[in-house]
Amino acid sequence: MTAKEKSWKEISPAGVCWKSSTQFLTGDWKTYKPVRDLEKCTRCLLCVLFCPDGAIHWKPEKGDIEFDYNFCKGCGICANECPAKAIEMKLE
Ligand code: SF4
Ligand code: SF4
Repeated sequence: MTAKEKSWKEISPAGVCWKSSTQFLTGDWKTYKPVRDLEKCTRCLLCVLFCPDGAIHWKPEKGDIEFDYNFCKGCGICANECPAKAIEMKLE
């Protein structure tokens, strides 16, 4: 197997990735998944700012946010920071 065929799971700790992080779908790291209560959410966008992986996107055409589960690592920061307590971390 060549280096280019390795997945992120086969890279040793502190190993160097050879391609952009956008090409690794790191969402499969997660154990817990953020699920939003649409009734409680005030669209304040704080979760968008706090997500360390940029996995929550503001969609102006919908006037709403969207989680990108391909990149969400399930850290729970969004749930912790949400002032409306609209995000619940659920076991995948
Ligand atoms: S932080 Fe909470 S209330 Fe604000 S947009 Fe995110 S889910 Fe909605
Ligand atoms: S759980 Fe973490 S990675 Fe996933 S959307 Fe929330 S803040 Fe971002």
